Amino acid sequence: MIIAVDGPTASGKGTLAKALAAHFGLPFLDTGLLYRAVGRYVQLHHGNADDAADALAGCGFPDSLLDDPSLRNEEVGGLASRVSIHPAVRAALNKRQVDFANQPGGALLDGRDIGTVIAPHADVKLFVTAPAEVRARRRYAEMQRQGNDVAFADILSDIQARDARDTGRADAPLKPAEDALLLDTGDLTIGDAVQAAIALVESRLRKS
Ligand code: C5P
Repeated sequence: MIIAVDGPTASGKGTLAKALAAHFGLPFLDTGLLYRAVGRYVQLHHGNADDAADALAGCGFPDSLLDDPSLRNEEVGGLASRVSIHPAVRAALNKRQVDFANQPGGALLDGRDIGTVIAPHADVKLFVTAPAEVRARRRYAEMQRQGNDVAFADILSDIQARDARDTGRADAPLKPAEDALLLDTGDLTIGDAVQAAIALVESRLRKS
């Protein structure tokens, strides 16, 4: 079984994807981490994330970089969203994701284009969303907990800029697949969102 989980930044899709993978016993790939590694590699080599050749060179990142904790920070998230615009970068990362999705026994992947491009044949597609203000509030609380002194307005505008880049790009834009199940986590606790996601997947499996 293949489960595709897509959605914008801070929608809760990563948390839901991990919980679903554990619940259904599926290997899990956070595809955003691959784009983050490209962005980080470009940064380490003083390249320009907006330059297609520099960004493509970043696809040669060593696998050890995937364990770099800085991949999770906001700055690298922004770089990931810039390198991911280039079609050559998306093409270079495609095979790794497609192979992971099609491994025997199935898999769960989370990202932006899993249900539309990487695994259009997925058994279940979930599109996780929440209003931008709610996502910014979550990110703000998370950063406060980590002791990062950032302005809420900056976080909100960063999230809006990332949404605009992810949904507006020509190649594999962020959008729900036609047969995706929508889950708005805006009013849900994490626990309720996990239960809702499991129920959605199970109802889709019963129908197939
Ligand atoms: O999910 P995450 O925030 O880690 O992704 C970082 C960035 O990588 C996203 O903003 C998006 O631009 C890009 N990305 C993508 N396609 C994916 C996963 C992530 O374009 N499948």
